[in-house]
Amino acid sequence: MRCTVIGCWGGSCRKDGACSGYLLQHGDAALLLDCGSGVASAVQNVIPLTQLHHVVVSHYHFDHCSDAGALDYGRLIDTQRGVTSTPLTFWAPDDAAELARLAMPPYSEAQAVHAGETVQIGPFSCSFLRTKHPVECLAVRVECAGGVLVYTADGAYTEELAAFAAGADVLITECSLYAGADGSRAGHMACTDAARLATRAKPGTLVLSHLPVYGDVQELLRDVQAVWDGKTLLASRLLALDVPERKGES
Ligand SMILES: [Zn+2]
Ligand SMILES: [Zn+2]
Repeated sequence: MRCTVIGCWGGSCRKDGACSGYLLQHGDAALLLDCGSGVASAVQNVIPLTQLHHVVVSHYHFDHCSDAGALDYGRLIDTQRGVTSTPLTFWAPDDAAELARLAMPPYSEAQAVHAGETVQIGPFSCSFLRTKHPVECLAVRVECAGGVLVYTADGAYTEELAAFAAGADVLITECSLYAGADGSRAGHMACTDAARLATRAKPGTLVLSHLPVYGDVQELLRDVQAVWDGKTLLASRLLALDVPERKGES
């Protein structure tokens, strides 16, 4: 499985950047985790929209779902042009009004997902954990071909999240705040929380994302590496991450 960072900014976005979006690919299969502002455009650096059929939405904050509309209209246009006949499927937290807003039948549909359940989306086995955030938000653990990627989505540090992320080959953690900030009240993680998450979960590769749109993000990397000496990367536009595959598993 390969993961490409499509957008890495939290809340808003920097110039020419996008909010949360991570594209997973295995063979011809593709799964987009979140579709924040700018993601519908930027994802086309990797695949055309006609080849994207599944989107997991972690929660209903605009920086994670606002480009659902652009994806819906893209699918409407491509369907009417006859270049695709497959509806786009959103997988998102169970809120009837929000699910209805995501979907544009018959061009797209929205399926509810719940904390604690596992959903098979093509070759991607996705399980979900509710995070500590002001609205219902689901972290996702994706297993594919024996490799594991965990995406925290938004949320403060919790021991449950560390256990959920344990042993991931790639852990994409939110890192919304600089050192000294109290993330727990806002339902986010400062770099110190991301470092603590890494020391508990021990990922193969730690990726800091959902980055602040102000300040020098290199400070986040330095502060995390002062605590956690495993491989750590700052998310950036189109950063490609190869999640190892293991023989005997599909
Ligand atoms: Zn966010
Ligand atoms: Zn949020």
